[in-house]
Amino acid sequence: MAGQASGGPLNRDSADHEAGAPVVLGVALSHPGKAFWPEAGKDGTPVTKLDLAHYYEAVGSWMLPHIAGRPCSLVRSPDGLAGQQFFQRHAMPGTSGLLTLAKVPGERKAFLQVDRLEGLAALAQVAALELHPWNCRPDAPEVPGRLVFDLDPGPEVGFDKVVAAARTLRERLEALGLVAFCKTTGGKGLHVVTPLAPPKGRDRLTWTAAKGFAHDLCLSMAGDEPEAYVVTMAKRLRRGRIFLDYLRNDRMATAVAPLSPRARPGAMASMPLTWAQVRAGLDPRRFTLRSVPALLAQSAAWEGYDAAERSLTAAAVKLGKVRSA
Ligand code: ATP
Ligand code: MN
Repeated sequence: MAGQASGGPLNRDSADHEAGAPVVLGVALSHPGKAFWPEAGKDGTPVTKLDLAHYYEAVGSWMLPHIAGRPCSLVRSPDGLAGQQFFQRHAMPGTSGLLTLAKVPGERKAFLQVDRLEGLAALAQVAALELHPWNCRPDAPEVPGRLVFDLDPGPEVGFDKVVAAARTLRERLEALGLVAFCKTTGGKGLHVVTPLAPPKGRDRLTWTAAKGFAHDLCLSMAGDEPEAYVVTMAKRLRRGRIFLDYLRNDRMATAVAPLSPRARPGAMASMPLTWAQVRAGLDPRRFTLRSVPALLAQSAAWEGYDAAERSLTAAAVKLGKVRSA
């Protein structure tokens, strides 16, 4: 386990709270009524700091296995969507003792990491509206733990096309022996995620291999339907197409965590889906901080995730054969 924060006393969170401040998961919230989002969907009612803390409390145990043990960047908006936003990777003076400070070999500064439920409440307190973990295996930053394919629709692409792209990508992953899961991003696209088995014996599983595999797979998908997909970053090629972004698959690259809220209008979250939900008519705007806890409680999304880890090495061999055939 990466080193626990030293010095930062656990009671830091309660040291400077106002009398009567609400306490969520043991964390006292200052300014609980502060509006972070002006509304959820179009319900006209602000989503407050207290709402965010309750949201993290409700979905935290589902979310935690997907973020624990990996450095996790934050999008913070101390004054909500109305104010400035910044992306934070490292600790600062005053960082809650409920968060882990993870040392990564070769990196001077420790990275923020969330290893316990209470850490999520501490994040609500400091206006962390988005969570972006690395995709490594827990406590092993050099070892890829999952691949994330980020499907980014260009201008003038309807969401049903993104749905079709996710289903096509799933078929391709399954043909290579991998298991695919899908989530909304809380934004414009979808993410397709495949968990990777740890390397066995003398096998090595490197980020170079993971990124190379993701790139090759995206190239072969775009090669078969060039009118639908692109793999280059060039903005001018994206109009009417979906950009297959394989670049989430690198050592320090991040992707938004499942169930993370987004610091965007509407207070949407990145919602894990069943494949039955990934079909024409899917509307990601349904999944807001207010709707997600109840929807998640009834959902079978991502069931079997832990048992779905598969060998990337085997998949890469198959992909090589397909490509050279
Ligand atoms: P959408 O569906 O709207 O594309 P997304 O989560 O895929 O949602 P992108 O805007 O495509 O969002 O972001 C791509 C990735 O870049 C994110 O997954 C995130 O982890 C990372 N990222 C976002 N903001 C920053 C930032 N300021 N610095 C570094 N990386 C960032
Ligand atoms: Mn995206």
